[in-house]
Amino acid sequence: MNLLEQTLATLRYILDSSSIVTGGAINPRHHTDWSHYAPACPGILLLPRTTEEVSKMLRICNTHKQPVVPQGGMTGLAGGGVPRAGDIALSLERMEGIEEIDPAAATMTVLAGTRLETIQQAAAEAGFLFPLNLGARGSCQIGGNIATNAGGNSVIRYGMTRDLVLGLEVVLADGRVLNLMNKMMKNNTGYDLKQCFIGSEGTLGVITRAVLKLHPLPGDVTTVLCAPADYSSAVRLLRTLQRKVGTPQAYEVMWPAFYRLGVDWSGQTAPLPDDKPIYVLFESTGSAEALEALLADAFETGDITDAVIASSHTQARQLWKIREATGEFPVRLKPLNFDISLPIGEIDAFIQDCQQHLDSRFPGHHTLYFGHIGDSNLHVTVDLNSVPEPAPVEALDELVYTAVGARKGSVSAEHGIGALKRDYLHHSVTPEALEVMRQLKQTFDPNGILNPGKVLG
Ligand SMILES: Cc1cc2nc3c(=O)[nH]c(=O)nc-3n(C[C@H](O)[C@H](O)[C@H](O)COP(=O)(O)OP(=O)(O)OC[C@H]3O[C@@H](n4cnc5c(N)ncnc54)[C@H](O)[C@@H]3O)c2cc1C
Repeated sequence: MNLLEQTLATLRYILDSSSIVTGGAINPRHHTDWSHYAPACPGILLLPRTTEEVSKMLRICNTHKQPVVPQGGMTGLAGGGVPRAGDIALSLERMEGIEEIDPAAATMTVLAGTRLETIQQAAAEAGFLFPLNLGARGSCQIGGNIATNAGGNSVIRYGMTRDLVLGLEVVLADGRVLNLMNKMMKNNTGYDLKQCFIGSEGTLGVITRAVLKLHPLPGDVTTVLCAPADYSSAVRLLRTLQRKVGTPQAYEVMWPAFYRLGVDWSGQTAPLPDDKPIYVLFESTGSAEALEALLADAFETGDITDAVIASSHTQARQLWKIREATGEFPVRLKPLNFDISLPIGEIDAFIQDCQQHLDSRFPGHHTLYFGHIGDSNLHVTVDLNSVPEPAPVEALDELVYTAVGARKGSVSAEHGIGALKRDYLHHSVTPEALEVMRQLKQTFDPNGILNPGKVLG
């Protein structure tokens, strides 16, 4: 019997057989995530229903030193939940449910396999907002959101997932259960261990439960599409908006090639002319009068040259369709996507650098720039149909990440490192910080069984 077979025999002896799946019975959705990185069938799929079962499973795998890959909704874009052939996948999909909503504390306690959309809906029914919001909301799980420290559209106002988590329950590689289920905003009792697991992409522990922070439901939302005179004007408009009307719910910036494509794909007449240098789509919950006055001032100063205020929910949805063209990238393009962050003041200069390097190395390339610039996040998408075959993915990765490193930016803004960006981490993290990360990994997972090959390699 090899080690995997021995592990399987022990798992079968200790656990209910319905929580263990092998071979062809494993659904292909456990082979890879939305990045389509290196699909492989795990040797065993584990489907726990309780924290106690997760603990038993990890204790057994740790004893046999068998690699375990935690899996959530598999919507990740960095290959983080992708097993290697023969690894053990541990899916949280059966650990679904809301345990409690506490209106006084404004918290929700959930199991890690609960889908984000279920959480959003339950919060709204209880008169609250859970502001984390991503295109993958119907499939991704809160455990995966926490493990990737997911971002999304509302980070500018409410922060990243890290800012929305008050407490966690985590099972360590050796099966110990860490109960960090805090409900309080203030709690300075030593090191805040939960922060180690948020964004750790399944390499330090398996998240099984969480206490989430809820917010009041926002008032009426006004959606605006405008054309700033240039990038500096777009940043100035954001700061003025924050000062005079309040921080917007979303502040999305699109460069012209992206805007033109978004309008075209959404099948609508362009709401603003398509020859502007930059476009901003934002949502404000501040006073409508204050917002109109601000826009009028911005016209006067020349900071914006054109704007549309959505007059109905339907028109607002139409405007958002332009930004949501990204959902069609996988079918209409052959996209190589970069999710990076840079100091806000440098984003436009970075785009110019990047465009120059791309023009000289890959003449004729088709590259799109857009992002949540209020939280320093830029997305760059190169259509691989526009560069020579075979697709020069490594050369493009190196080109973009070197330019990011040169401006002290980050090679991952919100999608994580997973397997795809592991080799580029050094552009954004110093050797000393990498060494401390390795020491942390060694402390939590001395046998290196949790998600090997991800984040640190
Ligand atoms: C259409 C679309 C839009 C998206 N938009 C955004 C966006 O705006 N912002 C953004 O940040 N991301 C976005 N994403 C990426 C993705 O949805 C997020 O990374 C999400 O948080 C992943 O959750 P998941 O449950 O699918 O995790 P998975 O893909 O299953 O796993 C992701 C990582 O977390 C680990 N993991 C999962 N569950 C656990 C657990 N319980 N304990 C420990 N580790 C665990 C896995 O090992 C893996 O490393 C988008 C993806 C798609 C497909």
